Amino acid sequence: MVYIKICPECESRSISASKEEWPCPHCNKDLSEEPVFREIRTQKEWWKTAETKKNKKRVFA
Ligand SMILES: [Zn+2]
Repeated sequence: MVYIKICPECESRSISASKEEWPCPHCNKDLSEEPVFREIRTQKEWWKTAETKKNKKRVFA
């Protein structure tokens, strides 16, 4: 999952894969306490998702 936050200082969008220790890349303001603006599901761990689907089918069949 990738998270997007809006910096209240410079109003720039900041994208990070972690919600912890989040300094603004533009003005360096600490954004870790700011609310998440948007979450984006990534395909990074697609193999895990495929495994989960297989397992689910087996469980409910
Ligand atoms: Zn900023």
